[in-house]
Amino acid sequence: MDIIVQKYGGTSVGTPEKIQRVAERILGLEASGMGVVAVVSAMGDTTDRLIDMARKISSNPPRRELDMLLSTGEQISISLLSMAIHERGGRAISMTGLQSGIITDSRYSEAKIREIKTHRILKPLEEGKVVIVAGFQGVSRGAEITTLGRGGSDTTAAALAAALKAKSCEIYTDVDGVFTADPNLVPEAVKLDYISHEEMLELAGSGAQVLHPRAVEIAMKFGLPLKVKPAHSFGSGTTILEGSMLEKVVVTGVTADKDMAKIAIQKVPDRPGIAAKLFGALAREGISVHLIIQSIGEGNVTDVTIVLKREYMERAVEVLRRLSKQLKAQGVIFDANVAEVSIVGSGMVTEPGVAARMFRALAKRKINIELISTSHIRISCVIHKRHVREAVRAIHEDFKLGKLKRRLA
Ligand code: ASP
Ligand code: MG
Repeated sequence: MDIIVQKYGGTSVGTPEKIQRVAERILGLEASGMGVVAVVSAMGDTTDRLIDMARKISSNPPRRELDMLLSTGEQISISLLSMAIHERGGRAISMTGLQSGIITDSRYSEAKIREIKTHRILKPLEEGKVVIVAGFQGVSRGAEITTLGRGGSDTTAAALAAALKAKSCEIYTDVDGVFTADPNLVPEAVKLDYISHEEMLELAGSGAQVLHPRAVEIAMKFGLPLKVKPAHSFGSGTTILEGSMLEKVVVTGVTADKDMAKIAIQKVPDRPGIAAKLFGALAREGISVHLIIQSIGEGNVTDVTIVLKREYMERAVEVLRRLSKQLKAQGVIFDANVAEVSIVGSGMVTEPGVAARMFRALAKRKINIELISTSHIRISCVIHKRHVREAVRAIHEDFKLGKLKRRLA
């Protein structure tokens, strides 16, 4: 039996009416003889509301209990979707992360899937049922309920598709696909028919909200094509596939992450082992860092600057202040008003002058660049948060992304 994994996001199942539409869509597909596994998110803004509720009870809820709470959101939508399919004469079964054999590590709120015991899903599929799996959740080897991080239902879908060797993995969302820029920021942005895993991973890691980065990572690792499609229409969406199947372009998209912060530890001793110490301490706190810059240094001291997600800032400042005292550095300064604007494209490796064009686009609008970082297919500039919209528009315009057409090789 050919298996297809479909994932429906929170807005696609936001109301009972929308759930009924999803049920119809699934039954239409099933009628063509496919085995359908549907992964669903919590309805609408349920997860946000659950978090608010927890905050009303506790300023710092135990992470275990938070995962216990958040996992309930998806249980509502899976059961309702299953009922909707039954109501239409179809056969379906809803399953939690535990029931569908999704085994994770035990890091609450950011768990990673370790393995999927597929027999729990395969049996009902073979019996002709639609299997509806709760996204975003799993269970640790110690039988603890875990969640995979905000937006993690995409990852559930990609991991299931890989484990079940599905024919395809479709992510249904409230947008038409992946665009050259966020259409809310740039009205001229165009939908891409195709993009490579690698480019999508860079975009998702630099602020594009459309897919959970780990979902793309899994798809890339298993050579799995992912489709991002609109749930509200029958548009073709965007197909994410291996780079070798695509024509190279210098820049395929521009993205921004407004929720960043910058921290500098000033005048730390410049000797072997210091960086290892600083970043070891941050890693132990589970703080991931986007960008690290160590300056040239004067005499026997140097400055180390990091850029990271704003949500990690307080914890990181605390850790670094402690180390700053220990190491007799001058001190720690931070700025919560920075944003990172990035361009991504598989062709920039071989094209000279791409960075210069990006910097010129910002310079022309008098936008100051505070820090710069690059990978082989990405260039990022850290700027003040207030310039984000203008910066993204400027780059989109100067690289003529509104005219971009991405084709198969
Ligand atoms: N419901 C979870 C969230 O809002 C997971 C997801 O939607 O993918 O983050
Ligand atoms: Mg999502």
